Amino acid sequence: MSLDIDYYELLEVERSADDATLKASYRKLAMKYHPDKNPGCDDSEARFKAISEAYDCLKDPQKRAAYDRFGKAGVNGGAGGFGGGNGGDFGDIGDIFESIFGSAFGGGRQQRGPARGADLRYDMEIKLEDAFAGVTREIQVDVAARCDTCDGSGAKPGTQTNRCTTCAGHGKVRAQQGFFMVERTCPTCQGAGEVIADPCNSCHGEGRVDRRKTLTVNIPAGVDEGTRIRLSGEGESGARGAAPGDLYIFLHMARHKVFEREGTTLFTRAPISFTTAALGGEIAIPGLDGKKHDIAIPAGIQSGKQLRQRGAGMPVLNGRGHGDLVVQIDVETPTKLTARQKELLCEFRETETGEECPASQGFFGRIKEMWDDLTD
Ligand SMILES: [Zn+2]
Ligand SMILES: [Zn+2]
Repeated sequence: MSLDIDYYELLEVERSADDATLKASYRKLAMKYHPDKNPGCDDSEARFKAISEAYDCLKDPQKRAAYDRFGKAGVNGGAGGFGGGNGGDFGDIGDIFESIFGSAFGGGRQQRGPARGADLRYDMEIKLEDAFAGVTREIQVDVAARCDTCDGSGAKPGTQTNRCTTCAGHGKVRAQQGFFMVERTCPTCQGAGEVIADPCNSCHGEGRVDRRKTLTVNIPAGVDEGTRIRLSGEGESGARGAAPGDLYIFLHMARHKVFEREGTTLFTRAPISFTTAALGGEIAIPGLDGKKHDIAIPAGIQSGKQLRQRGAGMPVLNGRGHGDLVVQIDVETPTKLTARQKELLCEFRETETGEECPASQGFFGRIKEMWDDLTD
């Protein structure tokens, strides 16, 4: 039974429900699903836990606001431990460092012991050319890493840890919540089950220290805005030797001076002269592959017409082949004419019969009919 259900749905209330409604509904449902009333029913127990979790969050105005904005990620995520400590110069990458996501991506963390390290987020902007070809980037991150002095244990080398007396080594304590007993992580040992008598000097018992790491990120061809790359185990180190979190690289596309992109399609607008539009011709568009793409302009082309060059677009991420390059034609009316050019155009106009521009002729024909109907 999956209980990844919206908190409001779980509590069977509207998103706008006030505290009293929330509480009343929680009580009713908690009674209904309480394990004591449903012995041996795992579904009930799971639902009971989920309801309690939902209420625990929504009853707290701050947590509720965070949940409303970001979902569970907003509630579980710590305002991570980085502070302002990244004075590093990231060169032309223009990266912004944000630490987010406590357990948002982590999934189940039922195991006893200190929590797994937080997942971290790193925002990186890349050029369209790099997204086209794929690129390798080096990044520097300041991240809480396992303390070498105590090998992550948090205890001064050569000293022992003691069993936690608050929880008797279980890592959990039972506490009253509403009218039920619930299990909580032990506040004394944070779930580790043991306490450090003599903390390590390097990490003050945390088992981890901030360290600058240089990481290599392989960015495959075809990535797009919002593509995430996971560097497994490169997030924050867990407290006292627990498993590290992951580092997520969030990719952003820099604006390109010629192309816009929609999935694997590359798009650009090409203004052409009215003579080229009338007589036909050819324009050359450089592709991101470094090749020149000659695009034939048929005589009589109109503004807005899209010409498609198959296979000249972006590569398919983790796949084969490429999308298309689409060139939209804009016919440009000349604005700077020499006296001679004007003369030629006047001469041209004298030869016009209306047949040259059927759309225009049709439209003004209909206007005339309408006028005649009105004045009959
Ligand atoms: Zn240490
Ligand atoms: Zn304890």
